[in-house]
Amino acid sequence: MIRIEDIIEKVEKNRPDSNIELIRRAYMFSALHHKGQKRASGEPYLVHPLEVSDILAEMRLDEVSVSTGLLHDVVEDTLVDLETIRNYFGDEITQLVDGLTKIAHISNLSKEKQQAENIRKMVLAMTTDVRVVLIKLADRLHNMRTMQFLNPEKRARISQETLDIYAPIAHRLGMGKVRSELEDLSFQNLYPQEYKKLSVEIEARRPELEAALEKITGSIREKLDENDVPFVEIQGRVKRLYSLWKKLKKRKLTIDQVYDLIAARIITTNEKKNCYVALSVIHDLWTPVPERFKDWIAIPRDNLYQSLHTSVIGDSGQSFEVQIRTEEMHQIAEEGVAAHWKYKESKLGKQEEDASLDELRRTVEKLLLPLVESTNETQDSEDFIESLKLDLYPKDVYAFTPMGKVIQLPRGSTPIDFAYAIHSEVGDTCTGAKIKGRIVPLRTELQNGDVVEILTTPNSKPSRDWLNYIITSRARNRIRHWISEAQRAESIEIGRKLLEKEADKFHVAHKKLLNNENELKRIANEYGLGRPEDLLASIGYGKTLPRNVIAKFLGTEKFAELDPDKKKETKFQSGVKAVKKFIGLGEDTIIVKGIDNLLTARARCCNPLRGEDIVGYISLGKGIVVHNKRCKNVQQLMINKDRIVEVEWAKNEKEEIQSVRLLATTENRMGMLAGITNAIAEIKTGIRDANAKVSKDDRGLIEVTIEVFDKKHLDKVISSIEQVPGVIAVERMNS
Ligand code: MN
Repeated sequence: MIRIEDIIEKVEKNRPDSNIELIRRAYMFSALHHKGQKRASGEPYLVHPLEVSDILAEMRLDEVSVSTGLLHDVVEDTLVDLETIRNYFGDEITQLVDGLTKIAHISNLSKEKQQAENIRKMVLAMTTDVRVVLIKLADRLHNMRTMQFLNPEKRARISQETLDIYAPIAHRLGMGKVRSELEDLSFQNLYPQEYKKLSVEIEARRPELEAALEKITGSIREKLDENDVPFVEIQGRVKRLYSLWKKLKKRKLTIDQVYDLIAARIITTNEKKNCYVALSVIHDLWTPVPERFKDWIAIPRDNLYQSLHTSVIGDSGQSFEVQIRTEEMHQIAEEGVAAHWKYKESKLGKQEEDASLDELRRTVEKLLLPLVESTNETQDSEDFIESLKLDLYPKDVYAFTPMGKVIQLPRGSTPIDFAYAIHSEVGDTCTGAKIKGRIVPLRTELQNGDVVEILTTPNSKPSRDWLNYIITSRARNRIRHWISEAQRAESIEIGRKLLEKEADKFHVAHKKLLNNENELKRIANEYGLGRPEDLLASIGYGKTLPRNVIAKFLGTEKFAELDPDKKKETKFQSGVKAVKKFIGLGEDTIIVKGIDNLLTARARCCNPLRGEDIVGYISLGKGIVVHNKRCKNVQQLMINKDRIVEVEWAKNEKEEIQSVRLLATTENRMGMLAGITNAIAEIKTGIRDANAKVSKDDRGLIEVTIEVFDKKHLDKVISSIEQVPGVIAVERMNS
C-alpha cells in the first residue's frame, strides 16, 4: 500500500512551497472516515484515495488538488457532508469535492442522454475549476487499473464509458499518457479475447520489432551527433494495442499489413529550429513518404499538441514514422493541460494566476465543445451546444431550470435573460422569479449553480424597464420587438382618433374617409406609405399632420372652403387644440387607453405635477410627452417647433396622487428627520420613503418622497417643512 509520505515527497520535490500540512490533514480526515470500508479487492478503501492523489502528485498538480484527491470520495461514500468539509478545509477544496460528487451522481436518463449529460457536467464543473476534471481523470484511471476485482458486466460498462467519455476528454485536453492508458485498459476489459489475441501476436514479433527499433534509433543518434543537432532523447516504441486494433478493424488489415507497427521519436532541446534541423537529417538518412509529412509545430493542434511527423522508408523497405519535438512540446504532448497550466503558472506572479486559470478554462471549454457536439443528436444536447456557442469568451454563468436543464448565460444576466433563454413566450409573460425557492427581484444577477424558477402570468406583457437590466441580445431583441409592436398598435389607435377628430372638424363623415380603405390607401401612397395602417401610425407618431391628410382627401379647393380654422388658427394651433383635449379627459376628450397611458406620457425627466406649467411634445413613438415648462430638456425640444403643443391640466380629472421627491438641507443635529416627517404628517400627506445622511460640509441631507395631488398641495408641504427649526432649504428633485 502506498504511503502518504511517498506522495508528500513527490509534492515537495515538484513544488517546494506547498502546504504539506494541508495534505496531512486531508489524509487524516480521509483515513478516519473511510475507516472500515473495503474495496472490491478486499484492501482498505483508503488505498483508492491515496492512489488517486499519488497520480495527481505525479501530474505535478498543487497541494489543493492532491488533498482533494484524498477527500474526493468522502462526501459520496461516507456520512460526511459538504459543510463539514468546508469547516475543515475551506471553500476551495469544498468546491472541488462538490464538483466531483456532482459528476459521480448518475442520473436516470437513457444511455445516450447520460453520455451527453456526463460531458455537460464535466464542462460545468470545469467552469468552476478545471482541476475537477483532472482529479476525475485520476480517479477513473485508478479505478481502471484495479478493475480485475469487479464482475465482467460491470467491467464492460465502466470500460465502455471510459472509451466514450474519459479517454476522449483526456485526448482533448492533450493528456496523451492518461489517454493511452485509459484506452488500453478499456480495450483489455471490454474485449478480453481480442486483446489477448493481439497481444500474443505482438509478443511473437517483439524480438524482431525491438531489434528493428534498436537499429533505427542507433542510426538516428549517430546522424544527429554527426550533424551536431542537440537532442535529449531518442525513443523507439511499438504501436499501442488499442490504436493498432482500431486500425486493423477500420482498414480490415492483418497485422503484417500494418506499416507503422513501430515508430521513433526524437526529443530535442528546447529550441524549435532543432526540430527542423533534425527533420532534414532524417530526410537525408531515409527517403520520406510523400504527403505523410505533418508540421504540427507551425500549426499546433487544438489541444496544444506540437510535433513534426514524417514517415520514411527504412533500410529494409518497411516504412515507419518519426516524430520530432522539443522537450517542452513533449511534456505538453504527454501531460496536456496539466503541463500547460503548471508551465504558465511558473511564469506568472500569484495575482496573475487567476487570469491564467481563466484563459486555461476557455481553452478547455473550446476543446470540449466538439466532443459535446459529437455526443448525440438529442434535442437537449443541441440546445446545450447552441447555448455554449453563443459566446465562447465572456465569463459565463450556468444556471439550472427546476428540471435540471443547464442554461448558460453571460455573467451579469438576470432572471429575465434566463426566462428568454428558455423560450420567448416564457420571457414575454414573466412576472417574477424564484432562485433556490425564494422570490427575488427580476434585476437579481444570476450566480453559477442557481436553480431558477420563472413565474409567468398569461397575457402579461414585457416591460420597457426590463431593458435596463438584461444583458443578452436575445432578451433585448425580443423586448424591443414587443415594445415597437405595442407602440405601433398604440400609434395606429392615436392616429385614428386624431384623424377622426380632424374629420369631424371638416364635417367629413368617418365612413367616407376612415372606413374607406381605398381612399386611405391612396393617400398613404402619396406619402410613400404602403397600407392605411401605416398612414394612421404615421399620424400617431406625429410625423404626418391629420389636417394635411384631410386636405389630400378633400382637394385644395374644398379644403379651403370647409376649413373652420381658416382665418383664426394656424396649423400649429389646431394641433394644440386636439392635444389639449387629448390630455384633458373632458367629455370630448380623445382617450387612447385611459388614465394609465396618460401617466406614462408624463416626461420622466421632470415628472410634471398637476398645477405646474406644462408643455407637450409630440415625440416619435411615444405619443405626446408632457414636460414641466421649466424642464431643461424642453429648451432643446423647442428647436422642433412643429412638435411643441400647448397643453393644460384638465379640470374635471379625478383626484390623482403623484409621488414627488424633496431634498431638505438642514443643520446637522438630532431629530431633524423626525421633525420633518411630523410636519408632513400634520398636513395629512403620505410619505413613501425618507432617509437622512450628512453631507461633506456637515449639513444634514434629508430625502423624502411624498404623495401629493397637485402643485398647491406640494407648495403647502414645502412651506411647512421650511418652518421646521433647523431646516435651511427645501427643493424638489427631478424624477
Ligand atoms: Mn473515487
